[in-house]
Amino acid sequence: MTAAPGAADRLRHLQAQLPPAARLLAVSKGHPAEAVRALVAAGQRSFGESRLQEASLKQEALADVGPLDWHFIGHLQANKVRPVLQRFGTIHSIDSLPLAERTARIAAEEGLAPQVLLQVKLRDDPTKGGFSREGLLEAWPQLQRLTPLRITGLMTMAPVGLGAAEREPLFAECAGLARDLGLSELSMGMSGDWPEAARAGSTWVRIGSALFGSRT
Ligand SMILES: *Cc1c(COP(=O)(O)O)cnc(C)c1O
Repeated sequence: MTAAPGAADRLRHLQAQLPPAARLLAVSKGHPAEAVRALVAAGQRSFGESRLQEASLKQEALADVGPLDWHFIGHLQANKVRPVLQRFGTIHSIDSLPLAERTARIAAEEGLAPQVLLQVKLRDDPTKGGFSREGLLEAWPQLQRLTPLRITGLMTMAPVGLGAAEREPLFAECAGLARDLGLSELSMGMSGDWPEAARAGSTWVRIGSALFGSRT
């Protein structure tokens, strides 16, 4: 528990800096269940994980703290959709129409109505997936019919190496696209770029290392 006071302090410090619209998703990947427990004690309920196996073990270790708000933020493989739906109420990383269709079908089988954010890629970035602007607009009529998914927003990441001056327009572009589609949630901003994302209207900043320290 040696890291606990530090993380709780960093949580309070971050919360104080965030605009009211931006909620903090504590990204606990690479950190143990005890680090999550320390933040729960400090009042944090929403946590992001990107690997199913790692997240499942942590969720089991934390069963005694009561229900937490788990968000899946990593690349979602087709064969992991069912267990991810069983363990996460929100998925930020639906990045194609076939994946959305599969997720909807399995959610219906499971009797679940997950909250979904569509991952978009508005700049070239070979390391990331996501709908292009055109791809999203083209798929949108079909996406909207995918009950029981509750598609509430867009998620995006800035390419590594993009300067702060270019990140803010990128986030603003994502916010504009969400507005055009009538979507209210914007998952934008990580430890290194959350201030620009928050200024552009982020409603979920996904913060890992700035809260928990660097991943091992
Ligand atoms: C790891 C990760 C984060 C958090 O990254 P930090 O730089 O540690 O804040 C946010 N979003 C996604 C999708 C991630 O994979």
